[in-house]
Amino acid sequence: MRASPSCTWEELLAGEPPLGLVLLEDIYRHAAEAYPNECCGFVRSSGEIHRAVNHQDALHAQDPACWPQSAREAYSLAPDDLYSLGMSFFSDAPAIVVYHSHPDCGAYFSAKDIADALHGGRPVYDVDHLVIDVRRGRARGAKLYRFVDLQYQCVWTDEIDGPRKPTSAQAP
Ligand SMILES: [Zn+2]
Repeated sequence: MRASPSCTWEELLAGEPPLGLVLLEDIYRHAAEAYPNECCGFVRSSGEIHRAVNHQDALHAQDPACWPQSAREAYSLAPDDLYSLGMSFFSDAPAIVVYHSHPDCGAYFSAKDIADALHGGRPVYDVDHLVIDVRRGRARGAKLYRFVDLQYQCVWTDEIDGPRKPTSAQAP
């Protein structure tokens, strides 16, 4: 069940300026602050960003054999955040995008990302996935992956060539 009103990532970004760029810059800031670890969170159809805690280091410390990757190489939404994500689908502002960052390895939807997003070949959640490319602590862009024709495909890309002023800094 998906509550309405809902919208796509593209519609959200194209909304009343300057929401789109502010939204993206806020996510980029989260990725930069979490560096060198991966950040994670989700975006609601209202444009609200939910910054999640990357629980991966706790899992890794608890059982390194079962969870071989640290937060530097992987992400896992903390239990409270996962609960918030699930409950969002019963609200007026469901999550439409789950995001995480890739420190120093480029934005792509990895085999693990795909495995985590699917269960029995179907998406666990009705969301797109945004992967942020963060290098040396600076976000360089992002790619959005959507489940189309039974597989995840890149449907949207942002690349930062040079310095881009944070939009929020323009507020009076
Ligand atoms: Zn990933």
